[in-house]
Amino acid sequence: MPAEDKPQSKDAKGVSPTRRDNRHRTNIEASSKNKRHAAPSSSTRKIIQGAFAIISRRAADRLRAGHVWVYQSDVEKIVAPTDASRLIAVLDPGGSLLGTALYSASSQIALRLIGTGRIENSAWPPLLKERFRAAIALRQPILANEHTDACRLVFSEADFLPGLIVDKYSDLLILQILTQGMDTSVVRDVLLEVVSEQVSPRAVFERTDLRIRELEQLSAAPEGPLVSRSNSPEDRSAATIFYLNGLRFHYDADLGQKTGAFLDQRENYAAAARYCRGEALDVCTYHGGFALHLARICRQVTGVDSSHAALEVADQNLELNRGTLGDIAVDWIEANAFDLLRDWSDSGSKFDSIVLDPPAFAKSKRAAEGALRGYKELNLRAMKMLRPGGTLVTCSCSHHVGLEDFTAVVAAAGLDARRQVRLLERRGAASDHPVLLTVPETEYLKCLICRVD
Ligand code: SAH
Repeated sequence: MPAEDKPQSKDAKGVSPTRRDNRHRTNIEASSKNKRHAAPSSSTRKIIQGAFAIISRRAADRLRAGHVWVYQSDVEKIVAPTDASRLIAVLDPGGSLLGTALYSASSQIALRLIGTGRIENSAWPPLLKERFRAAIALRQPILANEHTDACRLVFSEADFLPGLIVDKYSDLLILQILTQGMDTSVVRDVLLEVVSEQVSPRAVFERTDLRIRELEQLSAAPEGPLVSRSNSPEDRSAATIFYLNGLRFHYDADLGQKTGAFLDQRENYAAAARYCRGEALDVCTYHGGFALHLARICRQVTGVDSSHAALEVADQNLELNRGTLGDIAVDWIEANAFDLLRDWSDSGSKFDSIVLDPPAFAKSKRAAEGALRGYKELNLRAMKMLRPGGTLVTCSCSHHVGLEDFTAVVAAAGLDARRQVRLLERRGAASDHPVLLTVPETEYLKCLICRVD
């Protein structure tokens, strides 16, 4: 799962394919040449024909504990796959089979386990098919919901398909291929077969963030659809309108700072709307996700973002929903949230409800401390501006900042602001973004709903 920006940047709502953990860096660079040409030892040869990797004991323990990543620096010997499948057997230092992985030559995460047994090339397409079907089946309750027609259909490691994300926006599907192991025609062919049979999209586009594509050395995706219902311009269009909780949003695969909307916040939008009221402020609003939900129940809403382009879409989304929202005033303000909140809190501006949903400040473990300072500052300013009994909805999408640390920062901000803060709900990503408990990186989004007195 991807990466580390919300839109692009929002911890990419996910897990980095190129996450770098320096603790694992040994002398890999020096020895990598030799590794590529390593010959299997006689004991290994008995077990494995073809591509295989022997990994360090520490990495083997990690896989046995249910994780699925092996860092390049933990690969002790490798005979890389030469065929298009990129499947590789993974062995511990004693030569025991740990499972089968997808291999990426350029990623810091060289191996991503797809099963704990031996998976032959011929078994991979049927297994992919089974996993795609299971992933879609898990989303059936959302797919059957008449108020929502957008969700994440496939979430990488959390659906046992590491390196692959598929989002549905109404009649469009957007595929993100994040690793070399998923950048194969087998994967695309099987996916297209399953989705056309199960969700009949109008068109399927492939859109992978350029930064990831360069890092992973992935093939360039076509601009047009991989498939479409017909060749008409309407069916091949990259734009659509989708529903979340009964509100309408524009989506355009050719625009935007990232591959789409923040579908992981869908349930938090609805939760925020259960608590917020009065005058509301949505900080880092992007396309107005929280702001429009608040516009349903609040008297006045202000959305803030540093991106002019994002606010233009937010305003178009507001107009799209005028029929249900009526003529409520929503102000969009283009500003740096840190500067604006400091100025407003100093000058005594007040709100009844504030949402904070900044990008992933911490893109690495090392950056976590700086990120905590950023969260503290925004939360402190927001609390100073809340009227007594006000609601604070505060989010962090950085995997590197854990729930405990994030909660502690919100508590510290409350103390500094001399406010009493009570936690009403502790929330995560929507259920179409499941968390695989043995892969902590699949858990990244935290959303605290607090009453501030
Ligand atoms: N709340 C949004 C998602 C926010 S993504 C939703 O639910 O859809 C983070 C947003 O923060 C992006 O739109 C980005 O443009 C904006 N952003 C990043 N840094 C910012 C800053 N310093 N001040 C204001 N906005 C910022």
